[in-house]
Amino acid sequence: MAPVVAIVGRPNVGKSTLFNRLVGKKLALVDDRPGVTRDRREGAARLGDLAFTIVDTAGLEDAHETTLVGRMRAQTEAAISEADVVLFVVDARAGLTPMDRQFADLVRRSGKPVILLTNKAEGRGGIEGAYEAFALGLGDPVPISAEHGEGMGELYDALAAVL
Ligand code: GDP
Ligand code: MG
Repeated sequence: MAPVVAIVGRPNVGKSTLFNRLVGKKLALVDDRPGVTRDRREGAARLGDLAFTIVDTAGLEDAHETTLVGRMRAQTEAAISEADVVLFVVDARAGLTPMDRQFADLVRRSGKPVILLTNKAEGRGGIEGAYEAFALGLGDPVPISAEHGEGMGELYDALAAVL
């Protein structure tokens, strides 16, 4: 069975953009599940010679505000527990938020191998974000641009080291 890689992070950091890039739109296999995982998408991903199942989390735009954080947390915990590797995504341009730190705590407590990605780092946009992300204690951040396809070689190297 292909290893499972979960993309985790607060809304709007670019998780779904990365998912789409790794799956390739034509190959996307969308699968809606019931309950806390109902917003989850899974697809067959390829990066160079690596093949893995990629899981996107938290399409919760329509959730009521009072239940949003709890549902995101439950869904993220479920995805992490089923994953072999976690891609933890932060926004290199926006600066870290309290919600980023909450998600980072979930990932850290899981004990799963984690690759920290500072997304939206195209051009020189991600340099300050990388310093801030390093302080999360989840290792050296890998700067990427999911939208522009930058940093995919570095992501390959990081994944190849743990898969
Ligand atoms: P999600 O909520 O974490 O799944 O984030 P999305 O993938 O939906 O992206 C949120 C927003 O960030 C969208 O407007 C994307 O176009 C934008 N975005 C995603 N990746 C990048 C990137 O690499 N660079 C920039 N500048 N914007 C990005
Ligand atoms: Mg999304």
